[in-house]
Amino acid sequence: MIDLVDVTKVYPGGVHALAGVSLSVAAGELVAVVGPSGSGKSTMLNMLGTLDRPTSGRVVIDGYDVSQLSDRKLSALRAHRLGFVFQQFHLAPGVPTLDNVADGLLYAGVGLGERRRRAEAALERVGLGHRLDHEPNELSGGEKQRVAIARAVIGDPALLLADEPTGNLDTAAGQGVVALLRDLHAGGTTVVVITHDRELAEGLDRRVHMRDGRIVEDSATMLRVG
Ligand code: ADP
Ligand code: ADP
Repeated sequence: MIDLVDVTKVYPGGVHALAGVSLSVAAGELVAVVGPSGSGKSTMLNMLGTLDRPTSGRVVIDGYDVSQLSDRKLSALRAHRLGFVFQQFHLAPGVPTLDNVADGLLYAGVGLGERRRRAEAALERVGLGHRLDHEPNELSGGEKQRVAIARAVIGDPALLLADEPTGNLDTAAGQGVVALLRDLHAGGTTVVVITHDRELAEGLDRRVHMRDGRIVEDSATMLRVG
């Protein structure tokens, strides 16, 4: 479904964030990306999500080399195939939960009524059907992250990318978010999640371990490098 082929990323200033990363994620996988801070996890996730371009190497989604796609095609691909969840929730302040989630369909060409109807369904799916009118500052951290997940999956993305989704949550709330990611995975969504949470990672089918901009271990291939 998605392949990184010998991807490097050098940031302006010369940091080599990725130094030749190849990774294949198949439809239906649930993958944890682990490794120390600064090892390139977020940069790799941004490549998988086409949020940033590699310095060299290829990103291939559904057989399409992303660098060959027009900006329009790429936006369409992002809107229809990908969902994103971040550590900091990224909810719009002062906006009711229902509309925060409905905004996930803003670029999908769906009318407001239908966006809200689907937002309500997505919020029910994450156990927040009773919080439609609440604003983010009236929600707990765990609830905020569940709202963010509802927004990420409202368009029914094939691939959900989550960057430290439990990083700002206490243990119980984090477990709720993990259970939700598992539910989504069981429902057919491919999930790639960056985590520092050992327990979370150990519970997942596949772990990709990064260090210094490289994948040094991948439990799927039993790859183990120095
Ligand atoms: P994490 O370790 O949780 O992935 P970071 O602190 O590495 O988070 O990065 C947080 C944000 O800051 C990211 O958007 C990243 O791209 C950006 N960032 C990280 N390091 C630098 C840097 N040296 N210069 C500019 N931006 C950076
Ligand atoms: P991780 O997610 O594992 O913490 P990152 O991918 O955020 O790692 O960062 C990898 C390296 O790239 C780090 O050295 C970080 O400081 C650097 N980096 C990340 N984002 C930026 C950026 N926007 N500009 C410059 N350097 C960056």
